[in-house]
Amino acid sequence: MERPVRVRFAPSPTGPLHIGGVRTALYNYLFARQNGGTMILRIEDTDSTRLVPGAEDYINEALNWLGIGIDEGVRQGGAYGPYKQSERRDIYRVYVKQLLDAGRAYVAFDTPDELNARRAEVPNFQYDASTRLQMRNSLTMPADEVQRLIDEGTQYVVRFKIEPGRDVTVHDLIRGDVTVSSTILDDKVLYKSADDLPTYHLANIVDDHLMEVSHVIRGEEWLPSAPMHVLLYEAFGWSDTMPQWVHLPLLLKPDGKGKLSKRDGDRLGFPVFPLDWTDPNTGERSSGYREKGYLPQAVINFLALLGWNPGDDRELMSMDELIEAFSFEHCSKKGAKFDFEKGKWFNHEYISRMDDKELAEALVKYEGQNEVGEVLGQDLDYLTRAGAMVKTRANFIGELWPQVRFFFEAPTEYAEKDVRKRWKEDTPAILTDLITLLEGIEPFTAAATEPVVLGWIADHGYHLGNVMNAWRLTVVGECKGPHMFDIIELLGRDETIARLRRGISSIHNA
Ligand code: GLU
Repeated sequence: MERPVRVRFAPSPTGPLHIGGVRTALYNYLFARQNGGTMILRIEDTDSTRLVPGAEDYINEALNWLGIGIDEGVRQGGAYGPYKQSERRDIYRVYVKQLLDAGRAYVAFDTPDELNARRAEVPNFQYDASTRLQMRNSLTMPADEVQRLIDEGTQYVVRFKIEPGRDVTVHDLIRGDVTVSSTILDDKVLYKSADDLPTYHLANIVDDHLMEVSHVIRGEEWLPSAPMHVLLYEAFGWSDTMPQWVHLPLLLKPDGKGKLSKRDGDRLGFPVFPLDWTDPNTGERSSGYREKGYLPQAVINFLALLGWNPGDDRELMSMDELIEAFSFEHCSKKGAKFDFEKGKWFNHEYISRMDDKELAEALVKYEGQNEVGEVLGQDLDYLTRAGAMVKTRANFIGELWPQVRFFFEAPTEYAEKDVRKRWKEDTPAILTDLITLLEGIEPFTAAATEPVVLGWIADHGYHLGNVMNAWRLTVVGECKGPHMFDIIELLGRDETIARLRRGISSIHNA
């Protein structure tokens, strides 16, 4: 049966969204857009003990920054809401009861202490078919006693009754068929009376069903739960509309040894979160891609290729190209190594290709209005032209400002080693003549000045490198930067000559 594609990203707001979670969201989004489907954002907040204030806003802000659009969700609304699980209690209650009535689940009263005592007694204790009849639950206690305890308000949980000895197969679009024996599965808790909330497992399955989710695309860490999820679909009688399973490969540490963790980011100096985050409980800060000066498109491109490839050797791909090329066949089963150098490379490429005006706006935003506004006394157009000259020379937006600064502020210091190398005895006299030369060139453009100045250097037999670099020293403050004639065109004749004069009078090669 062809079903409309409906996918969901279902984070638990227990902290900042990890970059692996962002990739999961991205693959869901790419798949939805490719198939004209619907992208749902569902907030899975049933574990009240782990909720962190601000985490839900963070998730929204991060997805928004990255351009991962949501069609249905808490903010967007939609016909299948509410999209926050803590607001769906009434719905879950009905389904818990359905399983209980059908004998597919049972009520258990074992206290945490009792369970711990059993664990201490029985090696590898698991609450399942082999042990459930020795426990305090509705399978071992008379019905009226069970009812009495419930009526008295005794805390209980509802457990899924898994029958042993069956092969359970998860059909996964990346991994193929994954089969396990139901004997190894435990009777997972589906509901807790203490907070009148279901656990992740029940809420997740009920919502995927009710929201008509067609494909569950999520991290590999959920694969061990999938057989139980398959059994839950069956217990509810929903096997016919069970979603397609897709478990994405893990993101690994750069050396491939183990799962990428928050601590790797701190240790190796790269972010593992999309945005900066300050933990409201501990005050601990974690850095994000946005604040480090990454462009959202670069982060998207980089993440898309961690665990998937387009089947050819393309690397730079826009969101639209990714949407078009994405496929589960080209997702790897193996974990993907997090190659941070590659991330920088992507950012470099995207900065190089940025529209000049957008780049200038990004520069202003990055530096904050103050610094740019005060130092400049120039318009955005000027910054646009300056930025365009250096945009292939940085991995991060933040690295560009030091490179354009001299366009706004004449140097007051001159790089010592460059002075030593390029400021010769005859330099002041030659540059003084250069001033005279520059005064007479019309118009003062790169195209007009370049042949005249180069011709003049050649005619006089001057050393090209020494003259050009000494001149550059007076204008830039060091022997680095874009093409000299482009620089002076933007600075203009007066400013160029003023800097030459200042250099001539203040640079001395001791
Ligand atoms: N709430 C789960 C998480 O935080 C969702 C897992 C799933 O997609 O089924 O990742």
